[in-house]
This record gives sequence, C-alpha cells and structure tokens, in this order.
Amino acid sequence: MNASELRGAAHGLPQAQPSAAASSMGSSVGALLAGLKAKSTVLFVDQSGQLGGAEFSLLPLAQAFAARGAVLLLSDGPFRERLASLGVNVSVASEARVSGISKEALRFRWLFALPAIVRQVRAIAEAAKRYDVLFLNTQKALVLGALGKPLHRRPVIWHLHDIMSTDHFGSMQLLAVKFIARHLVDHVVANSRASAQSLASLTGIPLAAIPVVHNGIDTHAFANVDSADPGTLRRRLGLPEDAWLAGLFGRLAPWKGQHIAIAALPRLPDVHLVLVGAALFGEDDYAQRLRRQALRLGVADRVHFAGFRDDMAAWMKAMDVILHTSTEPEPFGRVIIEGMAAGRPVIAAGAGGVKEIVRHRQNGWLVAPGDRRALVDAIETLRAAPELAQRLAEQALIDTQRYFSLDVYVEQMTRAIGCVSP
Ligand code: UDP
Repeated sequence: MNASELRGAAHGLPQAQPSAAASSMGSSVGALLAGLKAKSTVLFVDQSGQLGGAEFSLLPLAQAFAARGAVLLLSDGPFRERLASLGVNVSVASEARVSGISKEALRFRWLFALPAIVRQVRAIAEAAKRYDVLFLNTQKALVLGALGKPLHRRPVIWHLHDIMSTDHFGSMQLLAVKFIARHLVDHVVANSRASAQSLASLTGIPLAAIPVVHNGIDTHAFANVDSADPGTLRRRLGLPEDAWLAGLFGRLAPWKGQHIAIAALPRLPDVHLVLVGAALFGEDDYAQRLRRQALRLGVADRVHFAGFRDDMAAWMKAMDVILHTSTEPEPFGRVIIEGMAAGRPVIAAGAGGVKEIVRHRQNGWLVAPGDRRALVDAIETLRAAPELAQRLAEQALIDTQRYFSLDVYVEQMTRAIGCVSP
C-alpha cells in the first residue's frame, strides 16, 4: 500500500469511514502483522519518559509489535514502566544535556550539548542496526534518529504529532525539521490533517505523500466504568457529589489554556472546575500561577487540582461537561476523543486537529481558542439544556466508536510501517 492509498484509508471526520472494518479489527491487525514483509522488526524511539499524547499513542503500537520490536527512550520515567508492563522490550539511552534542550532554548543550547548529541545519535544508530525499520515518535527522536541514517542505513518512518508552525516551534527547529523531513525520512504519518498540512507547507512535501492516521482509543475501557450512580463515583474520586462539574484534562501548560477555564469561573457561580493533569515538562511555574489566579479571582474553593491520574475513564465519567481550552491549534487532542468515549458532552477550542473530531452542535460544541466569553456561554448553554448536552454526548460516543477505535488505529499504523519495510 502506498502513501496515497493509506491516506484514503485513514480515518476521521468527515471522510467516509470503514465502519465494517471496525468490527473485525482484532483479527485483521494480527493478519497484517503476520504478513508484514516477512516479519520486519521495528525499533521505536521516543524522547520522553513522561506520558503525553504521543506516548499514549505509541503504547498500543509498541504492544502490537512486542514480539518483533523494541522501544528506546531518550529519558527515563513512568512511560518506561508502562511499556514494560505491556511486555514491550524497552531501554533508555539518556543524555541529560540533550534532554535539557527545550523548544525555546534550542537556538544556543544545542551547541553546548554537541558532544552529548553525537553520543546519542550513535547510540540510536547502534540500536537501530539490530532492526529493519526505525520508527521515530517525537521531534528530538526525529532529529537524533534521522541524523544517524548514514550510520544505521535503516528506513526511517516519522510519526508526526505536532503542528509545525511558529506557534509551537522556533525557527531553528523548523529549519532542521524541514531538512530532515525532506532528505532523511522515508515516510511520514501525521496524527491529523492539520499536522500534515503544516508539514506540507513547511517542507513542500506534497500533502498526498503524508498520510493521516487519527489516534484511536480503547473505547471498551470507557464503557466498563460504571457511572450509573454518579455520587458513588465522585465520592470514590474525592469530588463534590452535588456540584456541577466541568473537567479539563491534560498536562498543565500555558498553551493548554487552563487559565482560560479558571478565568471563566467568576461568571459561572455554580460550576466547579476539575483540573486533571500535571506539569510534565517543567511548567511548574504555570501550575503555581493557576493556583494564584484561582485565589485572586475568589474561586479557589471551586477549582480542584487532581494531579496526574491513570484512570481517565472514571474521572471523565464523573464530569457533567468536558472542556478543552488550548489557545494554540491542537495537533490532535486525545483528551477530546476520550471525553467523547466517556459519553460526556465536550466543549472544545475549534482549531487544528480538533475540527477533524468535533462537529459543532452535532457531536460537541466548538468555541474560538482563548475566548473566555465564548467558553462561559457554551457552558451556560449546555448546563441550561441537559437534553441538548445528552444528544451531543450520545452522538459523540457513536462517532468515537466508529472513527477512533484502537484497532483501526493500530491497523493503519501497521500498514504505514509496512510502507517502508525492506
Ligand atoms: N492524561 C492522563 N492523565 C492525566 C492527564 C492526561 O493519562 O492526568 C492523558 C490523556 O488521557 C491523553 C494524554 O494524556 O491520552 C494527553 O494527550 P493529548 O493528545 O490530549 O495532549 P498532548 O499531551 O499530546 O499535548
């Protein structure tokens, strides 16, 4: 299957979808794996030991390839344990100097880290030589893994999880990605049409050569949480039983816009906000600022900081509404399909990949990113019209099962790996 065939098969709204395929996925993934170019082996590389969206999307893929693949992480953390618990062969090759390079500091820091960068390029190349295909899952993994191509000589597939624009990245990084994507990567798979479009604009690579595979999630895990008695569920989670709860899920980071949701609270006197997630990538200042903001606005008693949680399904099902408030275009937004799978109405910032998931007033509610007033109005509207909220949630659940299933995702990604298998 070539890239454009894969693009045609990629799932997501509003393309026509292979609902028939969804019902027989478990076996078809197995068949695909069995047929994959005489059992090609795959090394997956991810820069993070933390659990973000890119890492959650790698988990099921690495698990599907557990018998013929391994994961190399460039930092240690809970992601390693999670992979190991799924039976995935995982190792860590970390270099503190390289891990410390942030998007913002990229311009100068990399010069000081040059020896460590060379070591890491070599380490990845050495590991890659033991596999047929090198699968790079994050930006740093892309740079370090692809630069070693003259050493490892393996086909490189890059899973793009970002919108490659100046909103998210510095000009140096964009330049590096432009060169690498054009000259050192054999195949790119994007997590949304928005991400694919941004890469096509940056590099001049034709859009048709960048297939899109939307994330998939285990919808059964959400169906299995019993929320028939919301009071019991909320008690178990330590949440107020009788309050009207708006939940916002994701790491605490300025562009995820938790401050917009807190700023909306003074106009929503009966609403409590539950923030689930932690500052994963050094954004502790922002986490502190959120607490101060809540105090300053006199809403601290209605903001619940839950920290990082593993049981998303339970937390989401305990909510009356689920918010997504990113101020920049979201590359995809797993939390949105999770909220939909939890059968809860979702209000989301309508930019980037989100518009490939949420159809306004049909399976959710879109507001302009960063627009506090629009967020207040949306919450008030759904609160005042529970039957409308229920209708949106029901359609959202149907759409998630149809378009964002885990099996379809793993099948499409396996096909993409098949595109570069020797
Ligand atoms: N997540 C989690 N526990 C938390 C907060 C977030 O497991 O406390 C998960 C969430 O369920 C989702 C992922 O982290 O699967 C975040 O992915 P998303 O695409 O929304 O954002 P990203 O991290 O990629 O920017």
